Amino acid sequence: MFGLWKYFRRRHLQRKPVPDHWIDGVTEYLPIFPYFSQPEASRFLAHLKILMWEKLWIGAKGFDLDEHTRLIIASQGARMARGLPLSVFDKLSEFVIYEEDFVHPEDELPGPVFGEAHPFGTVILSWPAVLQGVRFPCMGCNTVLHELAHILDLSSGYFDGTPILHRGRDYTVWGVVFQKYYDAMRERPEESFLDLYGAADESEFFAVATEAFFDLPDIFADEAPDLFGEMRRYFRIDPQIIPCHCESHEPPEDGEYEEVGRPFLMTRDPLDNPFF
Ligand SMILES: [Zn+2]
Repeated sequence: MFGLWKYFRRRHLQRKPVPDHWIDGVTEYLPIFPYFSQPEASRFLAHLKILMWEKLWIGAKGFDLDEHTRLIIASQGARMARGLPLSVFDKLSEFVIYEEDFVHPEDELPGPVFGEAHPFGTVILSWPAVLQGVRFPCMGCNTVLHELAHILDLSSGYFDGTPILHRGRDYTVWGVVFQKYYDAMRERPEESFLDLYGAADESEFFAVATEAFFDLPDIFADEAPDLFGEMRRYFRIDPQIIPCHCESHEPPEDGEYEEVGRPFLMTRDPLDNPFF
């Protein structure tokens, strides 16, 4: 019964036109959008509607979660899902956004948290971390992609680094290739081109690989062509055909700089890769 209601609701929402100002916003916040093929653009917008209209958006501690903020985050999710079925984020129920990096009161982790994905469908994000990933994709550190990769991973029922693969895909090949690079990262971290946070477990490895797949595709394809191939077959897009749109190839300096519409204070070393 619930599934039927959801089906009709989604069909109703998908028939509603995309608001014109969304297109302006997406073009501004996601400058690679005009490079999407027609099928990719159309599926991107369908995912954007799902994320914007079907998910619950909560501003933590009174954070004013306006449409501008939601659109920036949803654009990243739709970007990563533009080759995937519309059901891929069905296990995601809500976003909770903090205006600053947050710290768990009883957490043993010694630093701020940039984001979390929970098995009950909640994704928590730090707004500064979101902006950093959006503005400096060449860093390969995108918290929205990371946490939503965990949601894709959860499609199989577990955070185990393996989402549900498409019909006909070979889980053995996926497992062998991922295991090879995961083991290599743990044994020889100094040689890894991926964020070493991926060495924490298989789920984190898939999440950091997803960040690099979208934001550092040329490096990824050179360093790990077989892993890149598995990711490309899973996401059903080729991120290498889109030119780099970094504002700078260098990481941002500490200090204040302008983000989209408001001043943004960097509060941490963006290359430090703390806990998220
Ligand atoms: Zn993670």
